[in-house]
Amino acid sequence: MKYALVTGGSRGIGKAICKKMALMGYHVLINYKSNQKEALITQQDIISEGGSAELIPFDVSVQEQVENALNTWMNNNKDAYIEVLINNAGIRKDTLFIWMENNHWFDVLDTNLNSFLYVTRILLKPMLLKKYGRIVNVVSLSGIKGLPGQVNYSAAKAGLIAATKALAQEVGKKKITVNAVAPGFIRTDMTSDMKEDELMQMIPLNRFGNPEEVAEVVGFLASEKASYITGEVISVNGGLYT
Ligand code: NAP
Repeated sequence: MKYALVTGGSRGIGKAICKKMALMGYHVLINYKSNQKEALITQQDIISEGGSAELIPFDVSVQEQVENALNTWMNNNKDAYIEVLINNAGIRKDTLFIWMENNHWFDVLDTNLNSFLYVTRILLKPMLLKKYGRIVNVVSLSGIKGLPGQVNYSAAKAGLIAATKALAQEVGKKKITVNAVAPGFIRTDMTSDMKEDELMQMIPLNRFGNPEEVAEVVGFLASEKASYITGEVISVNGGLYT
């Protein structure tokens, strides 16, 4: 049995990634924060397609919760190791910088960036021992280009991009790759408050993307086929920005 952990796997892009990883033959650990109903639907979808998955709820922004959940899982599965980690959980709290309060900043940094430290540090050790691993971080166009109203989110995702590139150089010798996927506008709960009709006019492919279109790229980077790609950021944004 091969194991993959997808943070924020209950909904949206994470859900599509969970389903992709299951199709690739992985037993999927579906992480989520609070929406157990949607997480169970993701698990059921996987099982009905012949795959296997379990739920592993924890808040990625709370170090203690991350450590408790992952250490418990590793103690209960001593012969197993998680060879694929998809750091996908994320939130946005948009506001103009002039109105930005500490909680807007820290909540977004904690969930999108500090989570990378808490989760990855634990799972990296077994990957180093086994001399194989795949880490894919879901970042954003916002972290490449910077977007107004998202100074906090742009900073978090840009930080995650730099962390991706730096860690890739540390662990490459152990056959562990670390890459990032940068979606543009993807149709999920996160973008449900956005004016798609107006925004799509800026996008060369003239539409928002689907979670499955991001999951395909994540799946490739998480596969053995992507063995000579590391420290890379691949955009999935309909041509919005290059
Ligand atoms: P979404 O539909 O809002 O889903 C967010 C997922 O993350 C849910 O599964 C949620 O769990 C989980 N989550 C949120 N905070 C968490 C926490 N503290 N601990 C654990 N899980 C947490 O978001 P999405 O659009 O799929 O976005 C997924 C990733 O893609 C994010 O990193 C986002 O920044 C990035 N992204 C999205 C877009 C886009 O257009 N949608 C564009 C660029 C980048 P619950 O169900 O329990 O709440």
